[in-house]
Amino acid sequence: MASCIFCRIASGEIASDIVYKDDGVVAFRDLNPQAPSHVLLIPRKHMPSLGELSADDDATIGHLVRIASQLAETEGIAADGYRLVANCGANAGQSVDHVHFHLLGGRRFAWPPG
Ligand code: AMP
Repeated sequence: MASCIFCRIASGEIASDIVYKDDGVVAFRDLNPQAPSHVLLIPRKHMPSLGELSADDDATIGHLVRIASQLAETEGIAADGYRLVANCGANAGQSVDHVHFHLLGGRRFAWPPG
């Protein structure tokens, strides 16, 4: 989608620090990291939010979660633990309307989240 910043990152139109890409998923470092390691994983296909996923997206999202676990290893955060989180909607603070998962690690996180 031409107006979507994450679609433009996925297509290469906007530069980003990409750490992984394949036909279905792109992962890049967050511009405003909230932890020593903070990577965003997105599907290449434009999906506005988790609330609008369909059964057709199951394979892509399952693949994305597996890649997140793989990236946790390569980022060196798997052994100590990490968080994989997706914000959906206003109360959760979703600021970009393209499904994305935050992979965060390298420090201890509080629970419940703020
Ligand atoms: P959320 O608030 O869950 O929607 O997360 C959106 C995330 O996208 C935020 O953590 C932003 O820092 C990040 N972000 C926005 N624009 C960019 C960009 N061009 N490159 C990398 N990260 C970005």
